[in-house]
Amino acid sequence: MDVVVSACLLGRRCRYDGGSKPSAAVCTLAEKVRVCPICPEVAGGLPTPRPPAERVGEEVLLSDGTSVTEAYRVGAQRSLEQLRRSHATLAVLKAKSPSCGIGYIYDGTHSGTLVQGDGVFAGMLKGEGVCMVSEEVVESCRPSVEHPVAIVLGTGLGHLRSLVHPVRRIDYHDIDGFPVDARPIPGHSFEATIGTVDEVPVVVYPGRIHLYQGYSASEVCALVRHAHRLGCRDIIFACATGAIPGNAHTGLGILTDHINLTGVNPLVGDASQRGLETPYVDMSEAYSPYLRTLARGVADDLGIAVEEGVYAGVVGPSSETPAEVRMLAGMGVSYVGMSTVCEVIAARALNMNVLGLTMAANYAGEGSVSHEGVLEGARQNADSFERLVRGILRLL
Ligand code: SF4
Repeated sequence: MDVVVSACLLGRRCRYDGGSKPSAAVCTLAEKVRVCPICPEVAGGLPTPRPPAERVGEEVLLSDGTSVTEAYRVGAQRSLEQLRRSHATLAVLKAKSPSCGIGYIYDGTHSGTLVQGDGVFAGMLKGEGVCMVSEEVVESCRPSVEHPVAIVLGTGLGHLRSLVHPVRRIDYHDIDGFPVDARPIPGHSFEATIGTVDEVPVVVYPGRIHLYQGYSASEVCALVRHAHRLGCRDIIFACATGAIPGNAHTGLGILTDHINLTGVNPLVGDASQRGLETPYVDMSEAYSPYLRTLARGVADDLGIAVEEGVYAGVVGPSSETPAEVRMLAGMGVSYVGMSTVCEVIAARALNMNVLGLTMAANYAGEGSVSHEGVLEGARQNADSFERLVRGILRLL
């Protein structure tokens, strides 16, 4: 996987003050991928050290009002060409910088005040199809003993827990809000394992409950709240689905987004119960673009066939009618399943970084699929699924 990185985050002394801003999380990631370091300001011919500059509208100005806009533009253009040559799919850029900042930058008053906007290079990158994140995103996704990665496994995918070097096991029935009478369906287990996979701290939940079993949206999300209480910031949801003909094939998929067709939402009443000021949760990037890009990179590097697409969550347990499948296809849906959407909403409400993976065992609408059929599909993809998850954990 090729990644463009702001050179100052890697410890290069290229900042205006002659120093660097190394990020431990970014340096760790850089050891595991092919890195293309860029510094648009140096690429633009500016010396190091140099006077600090900030963006004011389309201009980049020094504090005395001198314009350095052209040097910033030339440097950004040269760095963009470097990125294109590298074939990078991910750019990790220094936050707030007038060149590399994404989403918010210093406001031009040289007072430390931030304003919405992009640095000159980051602005040029938009439309290049490259995932852009600041070092803050990489740092927030980095696992540790205090912040293990939660992995919730669906039908037939629970074998992944055998990879865990266990430290502690937790019966689901001891988890707050998990229904005491719930029993696992075949292919699920109700015992969470805290431990490590390849030395990455994880909490693996090898089974879940569903709305179609009669449980509420809140009960379905008990594992998410538990993972959050344990300190998990990243949560990987893996689910079995049906592929929508024409939009996806059977096999493994990365979820890019979802449509909640269950008619319920786990956040109804949640804000008032928890004393939150607002019930509203931003779902514009519910499935972390950064984690999705890492997953894509791992799949490509390892030669694992993985598609990407939108997931539609339905209640079930009946399968989709041909008319429903046509509707889903028209809505741009690639995968349909009976889980995940409520859990993802709950995870986003808790500000967790979400990655959604799926194993499509059959085509939706093409006859009934048995539970055993789903298990068989999972068995056929077990090796690829395991390599994909391990590869993602390695990069975090
Ligand atoms: Fe760092 Fe980017 Fe500034 Fe260079 S231009 S010092 S890489 S933030």
